[in-house]
Amino acid sequence: MQALAAKNAQAAAGPPRQCAVPARTGSRCSRRPAQPARKAQPIFASADKVSPLKAQAVDDIAVYTEVSTQSVADAQVKLDKPRVVVLGSGWASACFFKALPKDIKEKYEVVMVSPRNYFLYTPLLPAVAVGTMEERSIVEPVRNLVLGKGDYYEAVCKAIDPVRKELVACFPKDAGLDEACFKIAYDILIIGVGSVNNTFGVKGVAEYCQFFKSIEDANTLRKRISECFERAALPYTPEEERKKLLSFVICGGGPTGVEVAAEIHDFVFNDLKAHYPELLKDVRIRVIELMDYVLSTYDRKIGEFTHKQFERAGIELVLNTRVASVRDGYVSVVPKSGEEFEIPFGSCVWATGIAMNPLIKELQQQFPEQTHFRSALTDEFLRVKGSDGSIWAFGDASTIEQPRALQRADELFEQADTNKDGLVGLKELQALLTEASKEFSHLEEHARFLEAKNKRFGGLLQRALAGNSNGAESPMQTVEETDELTKEQFKALLEKIDSGLRALPATAQVAKQQGEYLAEVLKRGSFDQQAKVLQPNEKQAPFKYNHKGSLAYVGGDQAVMDIPKVGPIFGTGAGIMWKGYETFAQISLRNQLLVISDWVRTKLFGRDISRV
Ligand SMILES: Cc1cc2nc3c(=O)[nH]c(=O)nc-3n(C[C@H](O)[C@H](O)[C@H](O)COP(=O)(O)OP(=O)(O)OC[C@H]3O[C@@H](n4cnc5c(N)ncnc54)[C@H](O)[C@@H]3O)c2cc1C
Repeated sequence: MQALAAKNAQAAAGPPRQCAVPARTGSRCSRRPAQPARKAQPIFASADKVSPLKAQAVDDIAVYTEVSTQSVADAQVKLDKPRVVVLGSGWASACFFKALPKDIKEKYEVVMVSPRNYFLYTPLLPAVAVGTMEERSIVEPVRNLVLGKGDYYEAVCKAIDPVRKELVACFPKDAGLDEACFKIAYDILIIGVGSVNNTFGVKGVAEYCQFFKSIEDANTLRKRISECFERAALPYTPEEERKKLLSFVICGGGPTGVEVAAEIHDFVFNDLKAHYPELLKDVRIRVIELMDYVLSTYDRKIGEFTHKQFERAGIELVLNTRVASVRDGYVSVVPKSGEEFEIPFGSCVWATGIAMNPLIKELQQQFPEQTHFRSALTDEFLRVKGSDGSIWAFGDASTIEQPRALQRADELFEQADTNKDGLVGLKELQALLTEASKEFSHLEEHARFLEAKNKRFGGLLQRALAGNSNGAESPMQTVEETDELTKEQFKALLEKIDSGLRALPATAQVAKQQGEYLAEVLKRGSFDQQAKVLQPNEKQAPFKYNHKGSLAYVGGDQAVMDIPKVGPIFGTGAGIMWKGYETFAQISLRNQLLVISDWVRTKLFGRDISRV
């Protein structure tokens, strides 16, 4: 740590040497003319941000070298290789490293930078929250993944300078030691920083609800459930207080919300039942969902099955209801038809959707081409738009740019307005979107949404449009059945649709495939020494997503699956397949074995109810 701090001071003090290529501090590099010292924070002067990309001299690339814990000799062996820096250790980055061949180090110096030194298998996170799985069974140290292929620095990237091709990263303060910031030069940057939780501006969420994204979140929930039961079991706990403690509220009826509710139910009625028999009557598990059924991005039959399964189990679905605000122990909700009311809770889980990682926001300021409100826009090879091929992005942090419908708005309006009254009604709009989706594929889900709205399905695809289960950002929410749009309103709607365009869902499946794809691009492509960019092999095809299906656990050893060409499958058989899949899909054999042993342990001995 001290070494890091000392080297950090050295990095902050200014560039000591100049090398032919981005390099670690090495004695053979020639001394560069003295430059003014740069502070670690703030890292980049605003002038840097606006300077045109191509105007920057290549010399400057090597100005700042990272704090290196490697020996000088070791650093010099790597001097002639382009450096690839990969941000993040999530699905995209971990699968990228896993897919890299060992001999990649002959060609590139690959470095992972991430504050989390392990990969987390998120689909089984709800199972960790109740002890079905142990946390260590679903995490894999990233050092195992990078071993023999590259390096790893535990640090959060704070800023990217695409002109100098360098970034600033800091060993996180929350790791218990002092924060230590350093700079690292890159030739190729791959961004896989994922997303952050989205409160949708609902007051009190950050203070009183629990997010559900990390291993810490799962552990906190596990402890909270235990605390609520122990507190409720104390003698003389007033009835009202007991009921409040045993009320578990889950905001969001998407796959995460549904699985959390199902796991809590399993835990209470399989494992806690024998220990707190007198408390069971007071337990309430509620899922609040804006739509009129849960799992709304899956086939409708799956939502219906889950509804019935939850009804049988006693999990309450509070549908067609929006969360208005949260205060200590109370969530305030507004039904679509009805008055606002409060639900008391012992624990409230917020599982509604994702928002843009702040690092992408910062990147957007440097590239005018970056206009998407949720992620970094890339081309179909996953190159970040505007970066000339030196920055790539994958996973939740990115989205592939789609052709924009707005550019053809006038023509589309004429086409839509079949009765030529200068207005476009809901049915005309739906017909147009269906037709235009042959050219603009992102319009298809909107067309299907309107169709659902027409059929009073209550917004079959609203969640998909909004990219979250409370649908707060769906442009189609603003269209009423009686609406007739003028040309200006029609254009405004298309603009909204275009700006929220996400080519692919934010899922592990997409991130994994993109990670494997970029590993292939790196392996088969070449580094253009003149342009200083990664050139994909001329035979390299653009990224193509292969959707293998969606699945969710719904409790009582039952699961639901929506598989292309097969259709919906649900029940106990699906439950067995789900367990098999979640075991097989682990990132390492070690994880697979640990997960199997956890399923067996839970079946034989039940879940561990101690709060450790
Ligand atoms: C509870 C839960 C269950 C899920 N279940 C499923 C499922 O069943 N199926 C499915 O397909 N998807 C599922 N998902 C979604 C899936 O986890 C995400 O789509 C996936 O993790 C995205 O991968 P990623 O690599 O883009 O980002 P992540 O996996 O989120 O990883 C992001 C990484 O970036 C790091 N990072 C963040 N900021 C910085 C920074 N500034 N600098 C450096 N590193 C940074 C983080 O520490 C992390 O290592 C689930 C998600 C959750 C939360």
